[in-house]
Amino acid sequence: MIPVTTQSGKTLALFGLGGSGMATAQALVAGGAIVTAFDDNPQKVKEAEALGIPIGDLREYDFSACEALVLAPGVPLTHPKPHWTVDLATEHDVPVIGDVELFANERKSLAPKSGFIAITGTNGKSTTTALIAHILANAGRNVQMGGNIGKAVLTLDPLSDDAIYVVECSSYQIDLAPSLDPTIGVLLNLAPDHLDRHGTMENYAEIKSQLVARSGRAIVGVDDQYCEAIAKTIEGSVPISVRRELDFGVFASGVDLTHAAPSGASNVATLENAQTLRGNHNAQNASAAWAACHLTGLKDSEIQNGLDTFPGLAHRMEIIGHIGDIVFLNDSKATNADAAAMALSSFEDIHWIAGGLPKEGGIESLRPLFGRVAKAYLIGEAAPEFAATLGADVPFEIAETLDNAVAQAHADTASGGGKVVLLSPACASFDQYANFEIRGEAFRGEVEKLNGFKPYGDEG
Ligand code: ADP
Repeated sequence: MIPVTTQSGKTLALFGLGGSGMATAQALVAGGAIVTAFDDNPQKVKEAEALGIPIGDLREYDFSACEALVLAPGVPLTHPKPHWTVDLATEHDVPVIGDVELFANERKSLAPKSGFIAITGTNGKSTTTALIAHILANAGRNVQMGGNIGKAVLTLDPLSDDAIYVVECSSYQIDLAPSLDPTIGVLLNLAPDHLDRHGTMENYAEIKSQLVARSGRAIVGVDDQYCEAIAKTIEGSVPISVRRELDFGVFASGVDLTHAAPSGASNVATLENAQTLRGNHNAQNASAAWAACHLTGLKDSEIQNGLDTFPGLAHRMEIIGHIGDIVFLNDSKATNADAAAMALSSFEDIHWIAGGLPKEGGIESLRPLFGRVAKAYLIGEAAPEFAATLGADVPFEIAETLDNAVAQAHADTASGGGKVVLLSPACASFDQYANFEIRGEAFRGEVEKLNGFKPYGDEG
């Protein structure tokens, strides 16, 4: 835990006692702040009390005597409308902040020489964060990774000047962190998303841009119009592209990464052997990771080694293993057609397991990729709708459940020949599973039962 000493003796209100809210309350109490914490859920309040966190109903709280309201990132700050605690704080001119703000101030005060790489964007945040952390750790650096991925940021080890903090930031976390000042900031891409929480695209882009605007060095993907405009406003920012060659920055053509500097352009890395970083979207993540690690002082060979050995993230085009030449991939995180498009465009001769709770528009937008699908196995509520979309264009069967789908795909691919069995549902999981992680684990369980299966990394 990182006790928040910079708030010692200060009077603070805290709302939201989920995972990261609870950890923040504990870190504040440990650092000596005078905290009053609350949640609408009485069960959470009880749990906090049991952990020794002072509790009080914030409806009856004296906001005029408080120095900040600490909000859990899941609680609405502005849209669709401010949470009632935010209204009370605003009425009394009390600033509203979050755990990343507390972390940033604490780092500045106690470990100003440490590295702090913060990553945001609409898509690819977790992959890029985990990849940067992996490359640095693989090169022997002392890495602490957290934020919107894995551990809440205040649950990382106590601050140290020789550590590098690699922190994924959601737009909610940036919105609550006015003094966020990473040594290196990464903004991957921007696409309309979460507008329910941020109102307009302009507002969403403005929030995300703050992370790179306030960073020591900025790395910005320039393949969408929003990020391209942001990059132009930040002096010395390093642009990233997977669509075009750049005079300055890092760009990918296929699997080759090029670093273009005033002294000239050179081929600095290849994704040829990076099995977990297939597809153009991963080339964007890898290019940004390359730039961040290069700015941190790593040698090209150290970065290449990290790219080649990245194990990938669970449920995102995760290679589970193989039977002979047949590869089994778990992309359960692909809960909509856009995400499934990433996986479908990365492979050919795909035996595609899709379906679940359908989203609006179904899989119609994937039609240009249907040629890559050898056969589809449809599960869940979406099966009839997806079957109608596939029609005569793609062979399919309605498998209904994941175990049927895996068994059938296995039978169909058993003749061998470099095929891919891919779970990339393009649907939410809730009709058959509690969440996408459990769906992905169920897929893994079925695949592991198959005769001759070898897990990823087992070359035997
Ligand atoms: P996030 O943390 O931003 O949600 P993840 O790294 O968890 O992103 O990736 C989630 C999904 O988003 C992946 O399975 C893939 O389909 C897609 N994705 C990953 N990186 C990118 C990218 N750079 N651009 C567009 N889509 C991406």
